[in-house]
Amino acid sequence: MSLKIKHLGRKVDPQTVKAERCDAVVATGASFIIPQIKGAKRADGRLADNVLTPLNVLDNVPVGERVVVYGANAIGLETAVDLKERGKQVIVVEPTPGPVQDMYGFISWFCVVMQQLQEHGIEVKGSRIIKEIRPEEVVLDAANTAPPPDQIREGAIVVIDEERVPTDTVILAVGRQPNKSLADQLVGLVPEVYSIGDCCQPGLAFRATHDGARIGREI
Ligand SMILES: Cc1cc2nc3c(=O)[nH]c(=O)nc-3n(C[C@H](O)[C@H](O)[C@H](O)COP(=O)(O)OP(=O)(O)OC[C@H]3O[C@@H](n4cnc5c(N)ncnc54)[C@H](O)[C@@H]3O)c2cc1C
Repeated sequence: MSLKIKHLGRKVDPQTVKAERCDAVVATGASFIIPQIKGAKRADGRLADNVLTPLNVLDNVPVGERVVVYGANAIGLETAVDLKERGKQVIVVEPTPGPVQDMYGFISWFCVVMQQLQEHGIEVKGSRIIKEIRPEEVVLDAANTAPPPDQIREGAIVVIDEERVPTDTVILAVGRQPNKSLADQLVGLVPEVYSIGDCCQPGLAFRATHDGARIGREI
């Protein structure tokens, strides 16, 4: 079987795919979720100067000396360890009570990530949300773990636990969402559309390659 590679280095749109007159296997990946936090974005919708995603860190975009990583999932924690090893001061903030094991039982979670966190003394502030990002600090608040109003006992006090953390760079690692738009737009334009990998559901590389191998055999 011969394989032709076309349109490399270009963002492919639905019309380009339609012009190929064949079925489409879409593997457009996933994007980092940008939570609705005051100060995270500029007026034009782009990220603020002091806000990055873990991909920016991998791309060696400059990071300040004092870093807050938002999200104690595998990607957030690996980013925190990476930055600590580059000599940065790093704190991880996580809305749930502690690190989130989201690597499907991956042995590296326990043998590598958690161990490195301990070795590097990286603080994880659990049950906290980032309420606002300012040029030189973030404002944290208690995550909303208070019981619903009708369940609060008489006399109970809900404490609003605001805290300011001096910060040069915030890394948003609260999760990824599938890039489904190309696949959705292709329905009806080409005979069959198959989605594989992270554009179905963000996961690990082996799942994406497995999806590709399976669809390749099926069609
Ligand atoms: C920071 C980070 C660390 C990770 N670490 C691990 C790990 O340690 N182990 C592991 O197994 N997995 C890891 N993963 C997950 C792994 O990278 C993904 O599961 C895998 O890359 C998914 O492959 P994919 O082909 O579905 O998507 P991707 O690898 O994201 O590829 C999608 C490609 O489609 C391109 N694209 C999108 N839209 C268009 C368009 N319209 N036209 C043309 N091209 C387009 C994108 O530019 C991109 O190149 C990590 C992910 C991240 C973000």
